[in-house]
Amino acid sequence: YNNILADKVIFVTGSSSGIGEELVRDLVLLGAKVVAVARRITRLEKLKTSLEDATGHILVKKLDVTVEEDVNRVVKEVIAECGHIDILVNNAGVMYFTLVEKYTLADWNAMLDVNVKGVLHCIGNILPTMLQSQRPGHIVNISSNAGVRPFAGLAVYTGTKYFIEGLSGALRQEVSDKNIKVTCIQAGDIKTELLSHSTDKEVVDKFDISGKIPVLTTKEISQSIVFALLQPNHSAVNSILIEPPLAS
Ligand code: NDP
Repeated sequence: YNNILADKVIFVTGSSSGIGEELVRDLVLLGAKVVAVARRITRLEKLKTSLEDATGHILVKKLDVTVEEDVNRVVKEVIAECGHIDILVNNAGVMYFTLVEKYTLADWNAMLDVNVKGVLHCIGNILPTMLQSQRPGHIVNISSNAGVRPFAGLAVYTGTKYFIEGLSGALRQEVSDKNIKVTCIQAGDIKTELLSHSTDKEVVDKFDISGKIPVLTTKEISQSIVFALLQPNHSAVNSILIEPPLAS
């Protein structure tokens, strides 16, 4: 398996922290050329510097996935610099604990903009380039266990991840005969910066279980993604549900 990713160009959104950052490190170790994007460019530059000898394997770009023109421009820049994109990992995401009755429109819009529209902007701009390159392609969407069952306190977030599951299933049917795989990673609780956006302490205290059970680390999620990416052409890992044992 060692060389499977060696000539691949892999575009990872949300690489400045958490799962994305861990994944970038693992992919670089496997010899891939990684395009790491996020809004916090300073964090991406630090990540690049920390890779020492392997800095040639990482290209960092500032990108807000909610701005379609910027996604379009950055994808064009990457194609000009790297020739093609083989793998897209839609990892950027935000999560706000809140109750529907509180009508927190700004939080709802932020989740829809990043978790739904951001994913569409990236797939919409990158998929045509994958098809044009005629190379095997792979789109990995970071869903959640909230993409397969609902969680109170996370109704809108749950909705965005159900969207990802529906989108991925239908997209898979459209592109599987064109040598493109679509994988959903349905991750359970992991300690990252994701929870830090929620300001409604009462709702977090009532519904968030991550402070009460042993949770996953970003390493298990990164390794799940790598497992899907390392499959030979005749094997497609369509989804992986990975959770702390006590979460289900
Ligand atoms: P983090 O908060 O650590 O990482 C989120 C990443 O998304 C950051 O790199 C952030 O970068 C990026 N991001 C947010 N908004 C934008 C934007 N508008 N444009 C570009 N990038 C953006 O959390 P995680 O690593 O936990 O989250 C990664 C994914 O995993 C998310 O999709 C999340 O829903 C999913 N997930 C997480 C779980 C958990 O328990 N942690 C469980 C299940 C799924 P920046 O701010 O620099 O732009």
